[in-house]
Amino acid sequence: MKTIATYLGRTARKNVEQAIEAARANESYHALLHLTAERAYERAELVDNGKVTGRLAGVPFIVKDNYLAFDGPTTAASHILENFVAPLQATVVERLEAEGAICIGKANLDSFAHGSSTENSAFGPTKNAVDPTKVAGGSSGGSAVAVALDIVPFALGSDTGGSIRQPASFNGVYGVKPTYGMTSRYGVVAMASSTDVMGCFANTAEDAALVTEIMAGQDTKDPTTLPDFFEPVTSLSSLKIGVITDFMTEDTDAGVRSRVNEYIERLKANGHTVENVELPLAKYTLAMYYIIVPAEVASNLARYDGVRYGSRSKDAASIEELYGLSRDKGFVAETKRRIMIGNYVLSSGYFDAYYLKAQQARQKLIEQFDDLFSRFDVLISPVTPTTAFGFGENTDDPMKMYLSDAMTVGVSLAGIPALSVPAGMSDGLPVGVQLIGQRRSDATLLALARSMEAVS
Ligand code: GLN
Repeated sequence: MKTIATYLGRTARKNVEQAIEAARANESYHALLHLTAERAYERAELVDNGKVTGRLAGVPFIVKDNYLAFDGPTTAASHILENFVAPLQATVVERLEAEGAICIGKANLDSFAHGSSTENSAFGPTKNAVDPTKVAGGSSGGSAVAVALDIVPFALGSDTGGSIRQPASFNGVYGVKPTYGMTSRYGVVAMASSTDVMGCFANTAEDAALVTEIMAGQDTKDPTTLPDFFEPVTSLSSLKIGVITDFMTEDTDAGVRSRVNEYIERLKANGHTVENVELPLAKYTLAMYYIIVPAEVASNLARYDGVRYGSRSKDAASIEELYGLSRDKGFVAETKRRIMIGNYVLSSGYFDAYYLKAQQARQKLIEQFDDLFSRFDVLISPVTPTTAFGFGENTDDPMKMYLSDAMTVGVSLAGIPALSVPAGMSDGLPVGVQLIGQRRSDATLLALARSMEAVS
């Protein structure tokens, strides 16, 4: 297993060469959409000449292809952005580069980050790193697989409803979904602006904490970012931990529950107190999410019309046809489904019944979490009800696919931080435990994961 430390103190050029070699050797997984080799070697030279120094000097990484980054296109795994070349880089990519990290490629994802398996990529799915007959999870499947295969020691993803946590759990790596507003969204293709969060994957909690610390901080280009609050936690006292029992029912695979229960036993053995808790609105979170998020998706995707953004259809005879044909060819089926649902729930006559109701329910959900956090430091649950599933198993039934997000979307709607922590295997496939905290408790969650890693 490779960590950031593996790469420090070696020549950056060698690191880049090795990462690119590893990417090529693992091409059959389809974790990457393209390499950014030219720029990577340029950056390596700057590091090796001492012109760029920092805590990640010469360390290679990969970003999900919805991050704007130099060298090659930024496609969001869609045809409509197939030829889009970013005129700028995402703020968090700039921050990592300023510390000497080197981006070597762009990872595959579900088109526009809509999905839970990477099967919605317009360019073909990514295979699971542990069992290539299973899906990688999604939507940041390529990033998770790249870390699990040791192509790079860390990778960036985006999490709107679980897209970092779920693929992290499916591939047995750490995934960090920060507090909403802790990391800048600037320069990342927007999915749902009220829940989009940028975070990372890594092989250890220590690495995940370092990358998160570097990514975090206020950005004048993203007005929703919060003043910097991330302070690494070095000593951890005994915590009060609540197990969300709503996610530990028979709807969750027995193997997944067993791994979570074992993790709970280890928490107790480490001096933490653990109690069962209820989150009564848990069962409504998917319904809220699949109203609010499509509404925001429909708005955010309106800009891809073949005129302002996106490839333009050459067959159009009128302006209406130009919009219609460009969008029809440019978007995959799931994107169209979300645009239709989103416009429906926002349309006059339905707005109050769906969108407004869902926002009111979301407020109640936030209050339920706040109430739990007045009594508990951390909440725990599985990340997903199952381990990685097979290709095509859930593609015919969107509801089945959406169920994969049942335990992650509530956290996103509440804007609170959560981690996916590797917790062993079930029938040969990785299981992840979700550690959830109050807003701004990111550093505590990472310290807890790290302390558990140290004893395991
Ligand atoms: N799987 C969820 C969805 O399809 C989450 C996506 C995400 O977090 N980007 O909406």
